[in-house]
Amino acid sequence: MKKISLILFVIILFSVVVLIYSYQSTKEQERYVVVLSLDGFRSDYPGRAKVPTLDSLAKAGVKAGFRPSFPSLTFPNHYAMATGLHPDHNGLVSNSFYAPDLDSIYRIGNRRAVGNPDFYGGEPIWVTAEKQGVKSASYFWVGTEAPIQGIQPSIWKSFDKTVPFTDRADSVVAWLQLPEDVRPHLLMWYIEEPDGVGHAVTPDSTAIVETIESLDGVLNHFFTAVRKLDIFPQIDFIVLSDHGMATYYPESYVNLNNYLPRDSFDYIFEGVPTLLYPKSTYVDSAYAILQRVPHVTTWRKHEIPDKYMYGTHPRIGELVVMPDIGTMLHFRAKDYPILGGAHGYDNFSPEMEAIFYAAGPSFKENEERPTMANVNLYLLVATLLGLDPAPNDGDSTAVQGLLK
Ligand SMILES: [Zn+2]
Repeated sequence: MKKISLILFVIILFSVVVLIYSYQSTKEQERYVVVLSLDGFRSDYPGRAKVPTLDSLAKAGVKAGFRPSFPSLTFPNHYAMATGLHPDHNGLVSNSFYAPDLDSIYRIGNRRAVGNPDFYGGEPIWVTAEKQGVKSASYFWVGTEAPIQGIQPSIWKSFDKTVPFTDRADSVVAWLQLPEDVRPHLLMWYIEEPDGVGHAVTPDSTAIVETIESLDGVLNHFFTAVRKLDIFPQIDFIVLSDHGMATYYPESYVNLNNYLPRDSFDYIFEGVPTLLYPKSTYVDSAYAILQRVPHVTTWRKHEIPDKYMYGTHPRIGELVVMPDIGTMLHFRAKDYPILGGAHGYDNFSPEMEAIFYAAGPSFKENEERPTMANVNLYLLVATLLGLDPAPNDGDSTAVQGLLK
């Protein structure tokens, strides 16, 4: 009798376990995550324009400030969000840099470099997803053009700025209607505005408002279509940006060429910030000279303040020169002092802060959250999709604070 009840108990326990397991796996398979990045969308832009779609997202879900990683540039930040690792930890240390480990230069305009997986450390979220049997799709996201760990999203595209934004939206909607066995559950797409207009006319210009409103129109186009899908209630949406934008002025322009001899450097990557790779005999002299240059802060890489989480990766130049907000920094034969918009500056400055909106079945409703670091995206998406995350710099308290 005892033996029979024990067998019965084991059978019941087994079926309960099977039931729980199948319930969980169904739940995870039911979930979809769509992430859209609007490049250079500063956190104060929505307050300066009519953005009914963004406003409705905030009401339906969560809104927060989104702090870029240092340096506040496009490629390091898209890859930081994808991997949950600061650029210092993921190897994509700037838009352009020298990699001594590969004896090779990375430049965002160089297709061969962009497609070379050796430049990309860490594990982007689409690799985590594909490894765990969750299909992913990307319409332009930094890193998706390279087979990282031999893996790319099931669907991916080579960057082509001529594709209209609404066409990209339509493709994402079409992918959500693919047959279930090939349908991606993680979809990431990208729009290169309002970054372009911000650079051209400065973030203070009224031309920004026009672009912001037209982008809200693209969002409206997307949500109008996606709302009609049967799976709409299962989709978590995230709309974010990689960094903000700041105005720089001709009066505070700095050209390092007026202070330093070019031939004392192995590599120079000018801009905000500037990475310098001086010849070993010239490091101390260059550093001393740079301390006297106005409108910039120069660090030896090991002395960069901890809050920037930057300076340990071997690919970072020995000297990092960060201009103040308002200053454009060059290292070129001729001065070029103009008015314009730029980013790459101190990622803790309000001008560099980006947007973050999220709405869907997993998110709290009508909730404003404090500014958080953008490396939380990886952990957030992994949590939404029930994926086992790779090591990352995310903060689970910040992520849980967004969720129901
Ligand atoms: Zn950008």
